[in-house]
Amino acid sequence: MTSTDSTAASRLSDVRAGIARAARIAGRDAAGVTLIAVSKTHPADIIRPLLDAGQRDFGENRVAEAADKWPGLRADYDDIRLHLVGQLQSNKAEDAVALFDYIHSVDRPSLVAALAKAMTALAKRPDCFIQVNIGDEPQKGGCPLADLPALLDTARAAGLPVIGLMCVPPADIEAAPFFALLAKLARDHALPAISMGMSGDYETAVMLGATHVRVGSALFGARD
Ligand SMILES: *Cc1c(COP(=O)(O)O)cnc(C)c1O
Repeated sequence: MTSTDSTAASRLSDVRAGIARAARIAGRDAAGVTLIAVSKTHPADIIRPLLDAGQRDFGENRVAEAADKWPGLRADYDDIRLHLVGQLQSNKAEDAVALFDYIHSVDRPSLVAALAKAMTALAKRPDCFIQVNIGDEPQKGGCPLADLPALLDTARAAGLPVIGLMCVPPADIEAAPFFALLAKLARDHALPAISMGMSGDYETAVMLGATHVRVGSALFGARD
């Protein structure tokens, strides 16, 4: 093992231990939480040690970057699950459907239509999350809270396999109330999956019901 490999492996076991601790406190089974390693900006040789340590779910926020990196890695590890966690332009919908197994950022009717068309064309249906703008922040991606019921109806009618909700809460304030709200919305709409929690707050997210946490810097170190 090189030192990079052992760093990756020990960070991974630290984050897994954090998830297990939070799950125990909440009386949950840690097996119900999927750790997504968000590898955006990091090249393939930084990702490989995590793959060698057993990690299989990875997140990227740009379609073009993912298309560069992942086909090569997939040739070596055949059971990788790739999650799109960043905003998606409708004209990249077909590329995204081709590349990803999960799409966490469905946030508007025009994107629902583009994804439905791409899924039919490619006969491939990645599981989808509706991203909710949980803090109603003007500059943020995600569907406005008030539009969630209508967007869910639209997505279901279009045949998208919607499994859950996703959010990125406002920065610099306590995330827990926003996590609790997202979990309530998921319950209200009978959606089993909840994608929330990042490096700074994934344990809180697990305590409040996250089924998918998206962790980047705690696994890979700071991004440039
Ligand atoms: C980058 C990113 C993450 C990971 O953030 P860290 O703070 O590095 O853990 C999670 N979710 C989304 C949507 C991201 O863009």
